[in-house]
Amino acid sequence: MRYNHRAGASLAPTDCNHLSSYIKFLGTAGTRFVVTKQIRASGGIWLFLNGVHLHLDPGPGALVKSIQSHLNPQDLSAIILSHRHLDHSNDVNIMIEAMTNGGTLRKGTLFCPQDALDRNPIVFEYIRHYIENIEILQEGVRYKIGELEFDVPVKNIHGSVQTYGMRFFSSEGTIGYVGDTRFFDGLINAYQGVKVLIINTTAENKMPDRYHMCVEEAITLIKGVSPELAILTHFGTSMINAHPDVMAEKISEATGINTVAGMDGMVYSISS
Ligand SMILES: [Zn+2]
Repeated sequence: MRYNHRAGASLAPTDCNHLSSYIKFLGTAGTRFVVTKQIRASGGIWLFLNGVHLHLDPGPGALVKSIQSHLNPQDLSAIILSHRHLDHSNDVNIMIEAMTNGGTLRKGTLFCPQDALDRNPIVFEYIRHYIENIEILQEGVRYKIGELEFDVPVKNIHGSVQTYGMRFFSSEGTIGYVGDTRFFDGLINAYQGVKVLIINTTAENKMPDRYHMCVEEAITLIKGVSPELAILTHFGTSMINAHPDVMAEKISEATGINTVAGMDGMVYSISS
């Protein structure tokens, strides 16, 4: 059976300003090698849900990719950092500066783990004054940005770095972003009921360091959560070499759940 990779989704790079809600991938790169060579872009994810614009994980190129995509950072109400690794956070300071018009409009919220602000902080102190609020991500806490609520269902296991995934409670369906983590059984319970599950599937096969998920673990997670659609992203070298589209097809076959491989510039329309 061939799964319809376009079912319920507008997956071509397109101007999304006419959509009532969407997820736009400003990059699909994961790990140092794919990011530093820019084999895939690494600008994170822009979400527009319940009338709220937010940017998730502003890695290297987030600002450039936003502007090139005709997305205006001044429209953002929030920037969310899942964790402090560079491929997720490199552009956080410049994105805050862009959101606040160079610090002239004090607005917006930064959501981040505590260790993004502590010793060796990745958010500069002078930049923090540009933002209205900083909220610390914690397991089990529900947050609000305008008309949009999200929560952190579980703390991830990602080396020594505090790392969190989220569920965004859009009126058009719940979006789960698993983020960087090794696989553990708690993920399956944490993401129950989501319509769309975004999974950082970094490796084709199990990685020795077990910092990230591989294809086999994505299959286990997708089977356990059973979303309407799973989207793979954050590809490392082995996934690029194995072709993410081929891996997505393999996962669709194994799970019976439509699974697509993220592409740079891809837009997922929630309402369609
Ligand atoms: Zn990471």
